[in-house]
Amino acid sequence: MTQLRIGGFVPFTTTDYPGHLAAVVFCQGCPWRCGYCHNPHLLPVDGSESHAWIDILAFLETRRGLLDAVVFSGGEPTLQKGLAEAMEQVRTLGFKIGLHTAGMYPRRLARVLPLTDWVGLDIKAPRHLYARVTGIPDSADSVYASLGLIQASGIDYQPRCTWHKGLMNETDIARLGEEVRAAGGARLAIQDHRA
Ligand code: SF4
Repeated sequence: MTQLRIGGFVPFTTTDYPGHLAAVVFCQGCPWRCGYCHNPHLLPVDGSESHAWIDILAFLETRRGLLDAVVFSGGEPTLQKGLAEAMEQVRTLGFKIGLHTAGMYPRRLARVLPLTDWVGLDIKAPRHLYARVTGIPDSADSVYASLGLIQASGIDYQPRCTWHKGLMNETDIARLGEEVRAAGGARLAIQDHRA
């Protein structure tokens, strides 16, 4: 039995995997505590499950040929032991795989990258402000390790940042863009934080 704790499911989206019609699986659990997190109910690892994975798979069976992809989002999907197995099952149904990650577990990310077609990598702040945003000391180190792995894999990806103006000013955002560039990353997509 695939072990995947799911805190939410969106059966159709055009915005979570660029250029693709997709469903989104929101994985339960995240160890970080970003003050602006839009999915606080997804943070507890043992939070309540909204769907059983087996039911999602049954639904996806009915969407073959109608959807292009399934996106694993969260929470933090790479936290979940069953992620790779779930991705394999989704690939077997013929869907592409998108992954939203904050890049906090590079070794776990490395295991699922071969199963992934596109990654949305959240890069939250310039290094000196990372802990202020995530609540976790040295949290930028794992993210840049993940960025390096994604680049080395050759997988299509988008580094992106949610700009909370109470946490970062324009100088901070410019510095973040420079840090990502210096790490060889693709152009950073900035999205405004919605209050
Ligand atoms: S990493 Fe993502 S899911 Fe985790 S607290 Fe931050 S915004 Fe929320």
